[in-house]
Amino acid sequence: MIEYRSVVKTYPGGTHAVQELSLTVPAHRTLALVGSSGSGKTTLLRMVNRMVEPTSGTVLVDGQDVRDVDRVALRRSIGYVMQAGGLLPHRTVLDNVATVPVLTGTPRRRARVDARELLERVGLDPTLARRYPGQLSGGQQQRVGVARALAADPDILLMDEPFGAVDPIVRRELQDELRRLQGELGKTIVLVTHDVDEAFRLADQVVILRTGARVAQIGTPAEILAHPADEFVRTFVGADRAERNLSALDVRGRQVLVDEHGRPAGVLTA
Ligand code: ADP
Ligand code: MG
Repeated sequence: MIEYRSVVKTYPGGTHAVQELSLTVPAHRTLALVGSSGSGKTTLLRMVNRMVEPTSGTVLVDGQDVRDVDRVALRRSIGYVMQAGGLLPHRTVLDNVATVPVLTGTPRRRARVDARELLERVGLDPTLARRYPGQLSGGQQQRVGVARALAADPDILLMDEPFGAVDPIVRRELQDELRRLQGELGKTIVLVTHDVDEAFRLADQVVILRTGARVAQIGTPAEILAHPADEFVRTFVGADRAERNLSALDVRGRQVLVDEHGRPAGVLTA
């Protein structure tokens, strides 16, 4: 479990990135922080592994103030997936994944065997293990990024726009893959995204943020869609979009859901 208690972040120069936020991220669930660029998402995420220190307030992981944990140890114990991979360009894919376990004392051979297994787990062909990141597609690099974040078997996974740099089809594949993986692993995931559809697809809880990381609404995707808190949330989640407003149409005994333009979106099974 992660707790933000009245955290504030003002950067040197005076930007109020986080005005004041209190929030609990339950264990073994996926929580998405969603907001426009500059709303303070990355700042919030990095407070968990102390890449950013709050100006005031406290972040706790499993009840422990992160300031009381050695910074390096903390960082290695929490998985972090950055936008655009963040892989080490001069190390092979395999070594990128095995680096942290080796640093934390796993024998190199063991770490490499584990890394190979992880690459398979995230849907990568093991023959890619010897390549360098530059020899992979964007989507493959993102998978390596996920494998690397999982390598130390962390309880917590922080993901900062992890699928931001890939095309929509690959993005959808990676989202499906993450959902499958999360079903198997049950990590505590904080996912940052500006894409509300991605948040709805992946998260159990969604937090919609205004600038200054002010909470506009917290809820399940269904709650937010059904009852947007205000006009800001309504607009942000595209509540007025045709494909969000479905009605049922009887087609020879089956209920087909159609959007505002009468385009089919699916079939009601219950
Ligand atoms: P997001 O991830 O939602 O795009 P960020 O957390 O990166 O937002 O940034 C929030 C605000 O803080 C922005 O206005 C940004 O310009 C500012 N900011 C972020 N990092 C720094 C920094 N290291 N120094 C000064 N200002 C920063
Ligand atoms: Mg960001």
